[in-house]
Amino acid sequence: MMRSADLFREAKKVIPGGVNSPVRAYQSVGLEPPFIAKAKGARVYDEDGREYIDYIGSWGPMILGQADQRVCNAVMEAAKDGLSFGAPTAREVEMARLITKMVPHVEMVRMVNSGTEAVMSAVRLARGATGRDKIVKFSGCYHGHSDPMLVKAGSGLMTAGVPSSLGVPEKAAEDTLTAEYNDLSSVRELFERYTGEIAAVIVEPVAANMGVVPPEKGFLSGLREICDQSGALLLFDEVITGFRLSKGGAQEYFGVRADLVTFGKIIGGGMPVGAYCGSRALMETVSPTGKVYQAGTLSGNPVAMAAGLAQLKILDGHPEIYEHIDNLAQRLENGLQSLVEKYRIPASVTRCGSLCCLFFREGGVRNYPEAQQCDTALFARYFKGMLRRGIYLAPSQFEAIFIGDAHTESDIDKTLQAADETFAEMKAEGLF
Ligand SMILES: *Cc1c(COP(=O)(O)O)cnc(C)c1O
Repeated sequence: MMRSADLFREAKKVIPGGVNSPVRAYQSVGLEPPFIAKAKGARVYDEDGREYIDYIGSWGPMILGQADQRVCNAVMEAAKDGLSFGAPTAREVEMARLITKMVPHVEMVRMVNSGTEAVMSAVRLARGATGRDKIVKFSGCYHGHSDPMLVKAGSGLMTAGVPSSLGVPEKAAEDTLTAEYNDLSSVRELFERYTGEIAAVIVEPVAANMGVVPPEKGFLSGLREICDQSGALLLFDEVITGFRLSKGGAQEYFGVRADLVTFGKIIGGGMPVGAYCGSRALMETVSPTGKVYQAGTLSGNPVAMAAGLAQLKILDGHPEIYEHIDNLAQRLENGLQSLVEKYRIPASVTRCGSLCCLFFREGGVRNYPEAQQCDTALFARYFKGMLRRGIYLAPSQFEAIFIGDAHTESDIDKTLQAADETFAEMKAEGLF
């Protein structure tokens, strides 16, 4: 019985590529995806009855582990009172107050329904508040799929607005300037060339959509300085790092203040939620108090708020969770590093907090061009070996390994054992 294979065949008839988000199709590893039937704690179970140790965690949200009883109970309680009102509710107030308490420099919060929506809205706010149009982003950083964010570096740092998707008009992308991650001089060059035109610099404080690339010392504080000197806003896209690096996110973890912060993933506890936040002055430029329009029929949805609130309250009340997940990630990092040395694999391990990555490139990865030099064929071979041994990694070289509170030392050790066996096979095949 191969239910996943049957389902995938049926799915491809009625859903483009069989999936509702492209990475799920397993294209970059040349396999077909297992269909997931259920999950609990650090385990996911597929439709074929196989069990895996989960390192995706729904791409970050499930920091407490899957189907956490406290979060699920909150959802079921909320559902009894109605699924959606499109009207103000007490939970939204509690949610906004909790976020302003947990996250430094945040005075007001607007809830939305995804990370994409959060970034799209925050970018509009930055433009509206500064009266400027241009946005600086970094190649390899992902900020959702809104038109102006679907831009990669063209042929060089000074190239503006080359859309990386069909259907994005050049006009929608021409105000998006691209700089290199961990390279302040590339940012300064853009500010010199476009003096007084740049509304905001948007950055993933830890780049976690090109693998995991931590910011080098001075990079984020350097961005803060450049923004301060030029009147541009600093926008931290914390859709992954928010409530993960620490309960206050990257601002707290790195001690750098952002003007606008976007959240997603963890903030919804597994439900589709996003938020953008900042100072009162900035946030009050959003409608209905201000002239930057933004709305959402389902925004602040009571069931979604119940899930997010339950998860954030637990994170707020249990700082030891961060110690636990960081320690486990370090155990994984150290273990992978030893294996890289043992088998002399052309690879490097990166980590920041509970985000980890094995890059098949020697000498580390500090930006997108270096990430692109990774041997994705080696990754695909490694991925296959791990999956066969019950380790559920993201099916791409350019995604993070997410550690959550439900993982244990024994999970990490089983994972390292699986990696050891996989690398031994690869060595025997003469791959390194
Ligand atoms: C996932 C992600 C987004 C997009 O969020 P969606 O909920 O998928 O729309 C935006 N920014 C970052 C940094 C992300 O990782």
